[in-house]
Amino acid sequence: MRIEDQERSSNIEDRRGMSVGRGIAGGGIGIVVIALIAMFLGVDPGVILQSGITEGPAAGSQQPVESRAPSREDKQADFVAAVLGSTEEVWTDIFARGGRTYRKPTLVLFTGQVQSACGYAQAAVGPFYCPADQKLYIDLAFYRDLQDRFKAPEDFAQAYVIAHEVGHHVQNLLGIAERVHGMQQRAGKQQANALSVRMELQADCFAGIWAAQANQKRRILEPGDVEEGLGAAAAVGDDRIQMATRGYVSPDSFTHGSAQQRVRWFRRGLDTGDLKACDAFAAAQL
Ligand SMILES: [Zn+2]
Repeated sequence: MRIEDQERSSNIEDRRGMSVGRGIAGGGIGIVVIALIAMFLGVDPGVILQSGITEGPAAGSQQPVESRAPSREDKQADFVAAVLGSTEEVWTDIFARGGRTYRKPTLVLFTGQVQSACGYAQAAVGPFYCPADQKLYIDLAFYRDLQDRFKAPEDFAQAYVIAHEVGHHVQNLLGIAERVHGMQQRAGKQQANALSVRMELQADCFAGIWAAQANQKRRILEPGDVEEGLGAAAAVGDDRIQMATRGYVSPDSFTHGSAQQRVRWFRRGLDTGDLKACDAFAAAQL
């Protein structure tokens, strides 16, 4: 995947290495508040401001900055910013063509656990999107997990994960998320799960649209990338995840769709590049 010359998104909130201040919103004003509290406690606020904004896990590190080679995590964070920048470019265009304005989401990098407007979350839940604060949350450790546990390769697979979460943001902006949520509240558990599956498959399809259009603009795809993305879509299918974590599969509790379905919908977005092709709610067959 070629994304080196892509403009990096500035909508990244780096909360890596920060402990979760319950009741205090992290990032932005939150960091300043934490720094002020730290000052009262006699901690050098520079440590916190630095760790919150630029250094991440290096908080409290005594090593001189200039001698530190970029870590694997720094490179991943840079990659994430490039992919997010690419999704901003693509979706801003698509929305503009439909006479709308694309509101860019913020991506929060965190370590271990995080406080969002959707509640407190642990890294174990995987990357997620919170509609209430319109932010994407990613613990970079998930990528290592993706590689180690599900044998999903690097690079484009990681981009796919971000593009999928951005897909949920698009669903939110288009009012789809709200409509589906309303339907789910009136439905039984099984029906609510079935609606979740369609939401997820549509987000996969939106990720495919991103890949198609980013490639059209900047030739980001290299041989093997699509297979990588499809592999990632399959690797995070509910059946695979259930098999890896529980050892058995129970289709009624699927909320993301099977590996095969996820591949199919990602492919559909990729092949058509068209929003209309992604109507997973009208599809008779998933
Ligand atoms: Zn999802």
